[in-house]
Amino acid sequence: MPRYEYRCHTCDTVFTEQRPMSRSSESATCPDGHEEARRVLSVFATAGRATASAGNPAPAAGGGGWGGGGCGGGCACH
Ligand SMILES: [Zn+2]
Repeated sequence: MPRYEYRCHTCDTVFTEQRPMSRSSESATCPDGHEEARRVLSVFATAGRATASAGNPAPAAGGGGWGGGGCGGGCACH
């Protein structure tokens, strides 16, 4: 079951909750019992998607930006 991230509008607590995708947009109840928590876009999903799409071109295009540490010497990526 997918896990979604919610933020309570009353106490600003951010928490995650597992629920069916069909109910992902429904308001959730925060750990303090407030029923005002709204779903926020998951950091995990956003990061995962960005990593997945940027993962392939990164080694070729990102050689300069990323190469400071591990690829500074005679690495073939330059
Ligand atoms: Zn709350």
